[in-house]
Amino acid sequence: MKTRIKKVKTKKSFFLRRLLLISIIISTSVLTYTLLTRQNQQEAFGKGDSSNQVPANTLSSTVFNETHHSQALVPESKISFHAPSNFAGTVVHDVKLNTTEKYVALTFDDGPWHNSTEQVLKILRQNHIKATFFMIGQNVKAYPQQAKNVLAEGHAIGNHTWHHWYMHMNPQLAASEIESTADIIYQTTGAKTTLFRPPGGILNNGLVEYAKNQNHSTILWSADSEDYRIPSVSTLIKRATKVAPGGIVLMHDGGGNRSHTVTALPQIISKLRQQGYKFVTVPELLEMQNKEQPPITVKN
Ligand SMILES: [Zn+2]
Repeated sequence: MKTRIKKVKTKKSFFLRRLLLISIIISTSVLTYTLLTRQNQQEAFGKGDSSNQVPANTLSSTVFNETHHSQALVPESKISFHAPSNFAGTVVHDVKLNTTEKYVALTFDDGPWHNSTEQVLKILRQNHIKATFFMIGQNVKAYPQQAKNVLAEGHAIGNHTWHHWYMHMNPQLAASEIESTADIIYQTTGAKTTLFRPPGGILNNGLVEYAKNQNHSTILWSADSEDYRIPSVSTLIKRATKVAPGGIVLMHDGGGNRSHTVTALPQIISKLRQQGYKFVTVPELLEMQNKEQPPITVKN
């Protein structure tokens, strides 16, 4: 009998010890999780405020300007390409600068692309020039390494829609074309951009309306190389260099055979240099005007 009571007591004590141990493990895990979550929120908001009542747009802009490690899918580099706030929701062809110095922005559309994006990057690298690349979403998906290389070499990135469609789009389709491209650019390169260029420069098919509502800056151009028509190299050079200070030059690194663009590019650069031009990215160009005077833009 005595032995039996002892056995029951031992069993009970064993059970209680296990219960205590499990409770300790659970409380420790809950405490650790709470602390980690709080820390991540503080890093994301950058203010030590773990409140969840932050407007969605504030949250996203804060998150990509901060360096934190809670989003495993996002690459390490976190860069954002913005026009100054007074360009938000506007359409820009060029800027007017109150300076005797001559600046121009080279832009490349429809990439990334096999071969030609790398060839363009190489020429820009050799000439110590930073340019702006308006990327097509499906091409970023097809050529992710080329997209990463563009960013890694210090160039600016803009959104050029997913499919490069010209047709009229309802707000949902326009949103999908622009947002899916923004997503793949971010997932691939870690960059966010509010620079938008509508395919074909079309302003009235629903895309620019959506971009304006999102406060993106629609970036057109003041000199068109028309390289998509594959003109002779000399014609291409002539068109691309017919630009005024503060101008934006349109070329293409993707979307087809760009061998003429690649051949012409070193000569375009040297010709513009002979005319006294310095090369900047589109956001840099807009920032220059922003510091000097209110923007001269076309509002549609
Ligand atoms: Zn295009």
